[in-house]
Formats: sequence, C-alpha cells, structure tokens
Amino acid sequence: MSFAELGLSAELLRAVAAQGYTQPTPIQVQSIPAILSGRDVLAGAQTGTGKTAAFTLPMLQRLSQTSDRGRLPRALVLTPTRELAAQVGESVRTYGQHLPLRSMQIFGGVGMGPQTSQLRRGVDILVATPGRLLDHVGQGNLDLSQIEFLVLDEADRMLDMGFIHDIRRVLKLLPKKRQNLLFSATYSREIELLATGLLQNPQRIEVARRNTAAELVSQLAHPIAREHKRALLSHLIQSGGWDQVLVFTRTKHGANRLAQQLERDGITAAAIHGNKSQGARTRALADFKSGAVRTLVATDIAARGLDIDRLPHVVNFELPNVPEDYVHRIGRTGRAGSNGTAVSLVSPDERGLLAGIERVLGRRIDSQRIAGFSDLPATAASESADDEPARNRSSQPPRKHHARTRSDGAERGAAQHPRGRSRQPGSARPKPRASV
Ligand code: AMP
Repeated sequence: MSFAELGLSAELLRAVAAQGYTQPTPIQVQSIPAILSGRDVLAGAQTGTGKTAAFTLPMLQRLSQTSDRGRLPRALVLTPTRELAAQVGESVRTYGQHLPLRSMQIFGGVGMGPQTSQLRRGVDILVATPGRLLDHVGQGNLDLSQIEFLVLDEADRMLDMGFIHDIRRVLKLLPKKRQNLLFSATYSREIELLATGLLQNPQRIEVARRNTAAELVSQLAHPIAREHKRALLSHLIQSGGWDQVLVFTRTKHGANRLAQQLERDGITAAAIHGNKSQGARTRALADFKSGAVRTLVATDIAARGLDIDRLPHVVNFELPNVPEDYVHRIGRTGRAGSNGTAVSLVSPDERGLLAGIERVLGRRIDSQRIAGFSDLPATAASESADDEPARNRSSQPPRKHHARTRSDGAERGAAQHPRGRSRQPGSARPKPRASV
C-alpha cells in the first residue's frame, strides 16, 4: 500500500515524500480513506503509530478542497498539552507546506497578545489546548462558528487531566454539522460516553493493542539502593555510550537535581517539567533532539506528548506509582518500528511497584545485578523517598495516590514540600568497579 493509493493529493504526497516516509502505517491505511470520505472516526492508537499524520493529511486535503470562507478557523484540533499542540502544529505546517492553508497554535504559558493578533489576521486550522482556547473565546478574540472539522487528540489524556468540562464547553460553541475525529490510546467508559455524544456513525479503527509498545521494547530492571542510583545511571550512560537518553523521575525537584548531578559527572543533561517556562522546555527539547544535550530528565506530565523520533534509551530512575505510566514511559522508545531499551533502577522499596507493573504487562521484567553497584549496601538514610520531608517518613504510612491525579499530585507534592534533609550530592557515590 502506498500513500498515493490512499487518495492523497499531489501536494500532500510531495510533503510526505520529503519526510522520507515510504509507506503508510496501519493507522494511516485505515484512517486516511475514511476521513477523506467524510466519515467520523473513533481511533484507538498510541503515540508512535503515526496517528498525527493519520488525521492531519486527510484533514488538510478536505480543507483544501472546499472554498476558503475568510478569516474564521475551519478546523480545530484539541490536545491535552502545549507540547503536543506544538508538535501537532508542526506536523500541520510540515504536511501542509504546499497548500495555501493557514494554521496556528493556541496554548497557555505564553502571552495572549501574539495569538490574538494572529487570530485577527485569519487562520484556517487551530491546534489548541482547551483552557487557553476558551480564554480567547471569553475575550471575544475567537469565533468557532465556522468549524467544519474537529479532532480530539489523545482524548484519554484530556479526560485524565480533567478537561471534560472544557471540552463540553468548546463543543457547545461549534456548529452542529461538522466532521469529528476522536483519537485515544485507551478506551474507557468515559471515552465511550464522549464518543457517543460526539460522533455520528463513526468508523472504528483499532491498530494496536494497548501494550504493544511494551512488547517491542527490551526491558531490564537493575536492583540498586536508592542512594546509588545516580552513580549507576552515569555509569550506564558512559559505559554504554548512550547518546540520547530520556530519564524519568517522579518529581520536578528530583528532575532538576538529577540533571545537575549528571552534568557534574560530565554528562550533558537538561530537566523538563511543569515549572519550566514554555521557552525553556522548547529549548531543552530542541537541544536534546539536536544532540547538544545527551540526557533529558523529565516528569511524567512534562513528557506527555513529547515527539522524539526513535529514542533509543528510556530510564526509569524511579518507578511510577501507577503501572500504566510505566507503559506510557517506555512507549517513548522503540517508536516507528525501531527497537529501544527501557531500563528501570529499582530500589528495595520499589519492588512492590515493579511487581504491579509486571502484572499489567503480563510478563516478568528481567532483573540484572550490576557488579560494583547492585551489591553496594544502602546507608540508613538512603532508603527513603528523596522528596519526602524526614519527619513524615517515620511517623506516617505511605501516601495513597489516586490513579487520576497521580502525576499531578507527585509534581505538586514536590513543589510544596521542602527537602527534609541535606546531603552533599554525590557524596556517597561509589566508584564503579566493573561493567554490566
Ligand atoms: P505519531 O504517532 O503521530 O506521534 O508519529 C510517530 C512518528 O512516526 C513521528 O515522528 C512521525 O514523523 C513518524 N511517522 C509518521 N508516519 C510515518 C510513516 N508513514 N513512515 C515512517 N514514519 C512515520
């Protein structure tokens, strides 16, 4: 199957060829003809399947076929995060480069002024996060009455992040007659409810089972005392010659600290999390993609929607509280058919989390002890969570995390709690004796 056989126009085929894509991915094979024929679509597809092109290419084609109505937007793509909005916006520009369609992104964290002036000049395609979009509507900057085409991208994440009311408010502002596409990595009762209210006789497309990424990626766990994790990570990066590594921490504070520590070990690193400005995040991502920075340390929330091609290595510096986050994390590697490795540094207090992850995956993760590290004893102070105040550790039971707000909670918790103890970074760092 070729892109030309899917019915795409010459302008779009040129843009696709320029990206070096030789054949459409399964989601593209199924979605593109359905969307071109004008149908609503309910698609189950994860990041990495080529889902963005699957809706962007036919959307661009349909918009370019109908006459321009002027200043008001005709297509709206809603995304959960500003990173994803920026990336979808970039795809729209890339694939639409030979078409006379104007697009822009609307998201928070940057000034409203430039977005307002761009809206005034006129735009065909809006890629937006729901909150800022509604801010513009509220200020009278935006009229959504001419929208012909609506895409909800990563709808499950939008619901997880509590955007359902914003989405419903946006839907009320749209004309009744329009084409609707809903993309979601997972299905839940909430997604079904949303889809039922939104989609007319949709074509259902399902391209990959939920945990397919987990099956593609080679996974390994290294047992290690918490206080020796940083040294082991530096050792793995340096001895393995890893030149592009995405590292996950649970907290913003932990991400910052780890990035600084890696820099001290001579490994270029940047942290990306919710406290960073949009400019800082974009810069960190660009540096990481260009190879100027070898290691990107991220929290789960910040990593959502990051589009990084064929990332070879993902490291769970700390295991997530919820197994599904593990699946999302390792989904960042082994993308678009390439293989990747996901390594988890597992301290004794995280063994229960690892067991929970293995239950969700339906398989064991191989455990490998690393000589010179895994056999190092933990000191008394090392086995507590890095970002918990000391007084809480002994006197209170572990905090319960609710699945819906788990990652937000972890980030906020880190911001609110002062560090409960001081330790010289790297003071307990062991000398590596041998490699894997
Ligand atoms: P997505 O699932 O939209 O995040 O896309 C994952 C990655 O696959 C992106 O980096 C795309 O550039 C890439 N991609 C999309 N379609 C194709 C294709 N047909 N062939 C090769 N790579 C693709």
